[in-house]
Amino acid sequence: MLDRSNELNAYDRDHFFHPSTHMGQHARGESPTRIIEGGEGVTIVDRDGRESIDAFAGLYCVNVGYGRTEIAEAIAAQAHKLAYYHAYAGHGSEVSIRLARMIIDRAPEGMSRVYFGLSGSDANETNIKLIWYYNNVLGRPEKKKIISRWRGYHGSGVMTGSLTGLQLFHNAFDLPRAPILHTEAPYYFRRADRSQSEEEFSAFCAGKLEEMILEEGPETVAAFIGEPVLGTGGIVPPPAGYWEKIQAVLTKYDVLLVADEVVTGFGRLGSMFGSDHYGMKPDLITIAKGLTSAYAPLSGTIVSEKMWQGLVKGSDDLGVIGHGWTYSAHPLCAAAGVANLELIDKLGLVENAREVGAHFRSRLTQALADHRHVGEVRGEGLLAAVEFVEDKDDRAFFDAGRKVGPQLASALLERGVIARAMPQGDILGFAPPLCLTREEADTIVERTAAAVKAVTQAL
Ligand code: PMP
Repeated sequence: MLDRSNELNAYDRDHFFHPSTHMGQHARGESPTRIIEGGEGVTIVDRDGRESIDAFAGLYCVNVGYGRTEIAEAIAAQAHKLAYYHAYAGHGSEVSIRLARMIIDRAPEGMSRVYFGLSGSDANETNIKLIWYYNNVLGRPEKKKIISRWRGYHGSGVMTGSLTGLQLFHNAFDLPRAPILHTEAPYYFRRADRSQSEEEFSAFCAGKLEEMILEEGPETVAAFIGEPVLGTGGIVPPPAGYWEKIQAVLTKYDVLLVADEVVTGFGRLGSMFGSDHYGMKPDLITIAKGLTSAYAPLSGTIVSEKMWQGLVKGSDDLGVIGHGWTYSAHPLCAAAGVANLELIDKLGLVENAREVGAHFRSRLTQALADHRHVGEVRGEGLLAAVEFVEDKDDRAFFDAGRKVGPQLASALLERGVIARAMPQGDILGFAPPLCLTREEADTIVERTAAAVKAVTQAL
């Protein structure tokens, strides 16, 4: 009998161009192919029957957990009724209109409209275009620069990859492009001046932003974009007072705020939105991942009423807005979104993220904070990170070639838990489904401690 597993592996190496993968190693068969067949709750199972607790919820997106039949059935019912119609020129489907209303009901105050896309990247692309359109409509065409942060992650497109402030996503792509700039990351653990308190470091970051705005000229700076908690850049919650101080600078120079809530939206931090969690007052909010828990690809740009009023003025002069995707507000994805948001409410997953998240992070801290190679255990809600250092006192990085982060993730995988070695630094990231139980949290912590012990003993 044909060994299907080997055949698939061969097809995979010969034909499947994987994202964010070492191309050569994969094609040569030096890195494993792992084919995932199913999942239930927080656990996934591969073709070899190997089970893993997915402590990163895919790419921090399967927030309600795997195997939710309610969502599968909602997608199927919509497919039988109407699989597709476009949303151009005022068209729509009942389910996409209902979803827009459900999002606004949950969104921070002052938000009034949703522009649907398919990925976090295209939603941020929409944000950039809306910011430029808005300032053109308001008669200030020179106000176009967008300030992002080092270590921010906002997508992989040409402009969104430029917003991203991580070397890996710029390398050999001729990124970042103008008019995107990067300012200080609010990374308290890695601050240059160790004598600074959190509040002082937040003031320092806000000061750096103000300096950049003044150097560039406030009349040229349109917007600032940030994740409420830095995600792919290392899972770094902001230091105390950060958003308040940043917000004051933005208001002073009439600079719009984009809150990229692709990871933090819909409960990850133990609040519906990170903007409410930190008192941010965004003009635009990016959503994706948790909107459908990845049961179907769907993203959105939530637009504030203030910005909408500016944009809508443009239509009398400019006519139809020349921005649209074929699959905007796709009914199958919208059906997944409605069922997913209903499930989050029904199961109380936002509260669960807050409570089990606090338990998980406190257990992780107890188990690891004193370890000689652990620099910091940090997080918020069900988002957590353990940062590893060569030397605890001077916080020295391990030599990147030693691949300590990836080694830890592999050792943990061998013990049946998926965590993510974050791309910059030796950081293990955790973002389990929001339905995680205390017992499952304890299992993740026990296995992480065992993996850390094994890897660090061999260092
Ligand atoms: N913004 C943030 C904060 C993200 O974490 C991501 C994806 N990890 C994106 C945008 C891009 O989303 P996508 O991969 O769906 O394009």
